Amino acid sequence: MKKLLAVLMALTLVLAFAACTKQPADTVDETQKTLIMGTNAAFPPYEFVADDGSFAGIDVEIAQAVAEKLGMKLEIKDMEFNSLISAVQGGSIDIALAGMTVTDERKESVNFSDTYAKGVQVVIVKEDSAIATVDDLDGKTIGVQAGTTGDIYCTDDYGQENVKQFNNGALAIQALLNGQVDCVVIDNEPAKAFVAANEGLKILDTSYADEDYAAAIAKENTELLDNFNKALAELKADGTIDKIVEKYINAD
Ligand code: GLN
Repeated sequence: MKKLLAVLMALTLVLAFAACTKQPADTVDETQKTLIMGTNAAFPPYEFVADDGSFAGIDVEIAQAVAEKLGMKLEIKDMEFNSLISAVQGGSIDIALAGMTVTDERKESVNFSDTYAKGVQVVIVKEDSAIATVDDLDGKTIGVQAGTTGDIYCTDDYGQENVKQFNNGALAIQALLNGQVDCVVIDNEPAKAFVAANEGLKILDTSYADEDYAAAIAKENTELLDNFNKALAELKADGTIDKIVEKYINAD
């Protein structure tokens, strides 16, 4: 009996010691395992603030699924689209997921992950607008989201004096409804969401540009880039990405 007690006590001591030595490592891990995603949550269905105040959308769910695969906790920082690249570069966010188009110019500042969706720049006008195609945009006042590809293309094609920048799509749409701009150039899925949510608007049939969306990651953080791409490939292969997209975009 005494012998058994001694063995039990020794075992307890060993276990207690093991627990003690394990704890600090766990604690350190916890603090390291947060993936900070930056986005502009005014870009439905890719990112928006849901009725309950939480972040929702395709990018949010993809980031959540990737973080889960990497054993990380996802934290989301909402900011202006135009601040995302410098936030990635400065390290205040690990990754930007914001329906962000891969462009050569942005590639000079950040690395892009493999692409996970296609975007199209479209033109939104009022239902009774005289603008019928992209060719009618000359000399018109065009609303865009500052720093987006829509902004860059329109400024190049129609001149800065004809382009009005807004901090997000919702504000650009408001300006269109108020008559401050004649049209808004924006990505097709947010365009559909804005037109559905506001009376009297339509999307022109002719589109303006085709693009690829990807996540932006700091140049020096190649480990996260590799891990993100690996997780993304697995999520594409097992149908998770398709399922997320179908949840937010009707296939019609
Ligand atoms: N796809 C566009 C871009 O990357 C717009 C993205 C956005 O407004 N969130 O510039």
